[in-house]
Amino acid sequence: MLTIGMLGGMSWESSAEYYRLANVLVRERVGGLHSAKVVLHSVDFAEIERMQVEGRWDDAGKALAEAAAQVQAGGADFLLICTNTMHKVFDQVQAAIDIPVIHLGDTTAQAIKRAGFTTVGLLGTGFTMDQPFYRERLESHGLKVLLPSAEDRATVHRIIYDELCLGIVREQSRRAYQDVISKFDGAQGVILGCTEIELLITQADVPLPVFPTTRLHVEAAVERAIQTTL
Ligand code: GLU
Repeated sequence: MLTIGMLGGMSWESSAEYYRLANVLVRERVGGLHSAKVVLHSVDFAEIERMQVEGRWDDAGKALAEAAAQVQAGGADFLLICTNTMHKVFDQVQAAIDIPVIHLGDTTAQAIKRAGFTTVGLLGTGFTMDQPFYRERLESHGLKVLLPSAEDRATVHRIIYDELCLGIVREQSRRAYQDVISKFDGAQGVILGCTEIELLITQADVPLPVFPTTRLHVEAAVERAIQTTL
């Protein structure tokens, strides 16, 4: 079995889910006492969030590139950056290491295409929704990506940073997300494009098919890791 590298802590609330899901999926797929081989480097999210807010993406890229090198040195065979937003510095991270980085936008787009969909709504941080880096990656797979209104994007962003990244899950916020999702006009599905959103919204909460990026990322990683085991 290959060793999954994880660059986490962004926030740790979702990284814990990455670790848990990787082990659950290995147990389901391989059985017995098998569990996932994982090297996890977890950052202090406050430091990264400050760089995001100040627009110091190059510094954030350097910090994550250094952390990625440590994951590689720890024996990982490939790497997951456990956040959608920080895929903004994907190229910087990949350039710093020899092992492949599995792009979360690619694993998400592949799942959407497997479902036979072409048009999807996107929820994520303001950075992920407002800037082109993530949307363009999805569009490179032939997908059409719809965004919430500016006001709704601000609500979605606020709930991520003020609640979900702090482990706070509120019924009121679930309803706010349900409302935003209900306004996507023509979407065949919705991308939960922030790794904490699936702590708040599951398929049972909305009629539109959801694409939970944490789960899809981990599923792709586990399939890759167990290739040689099965
Ligand atoms: N985990 C979130 C994401 O998937 C947001 C936190 C971050 O900015 O990394 O985008």
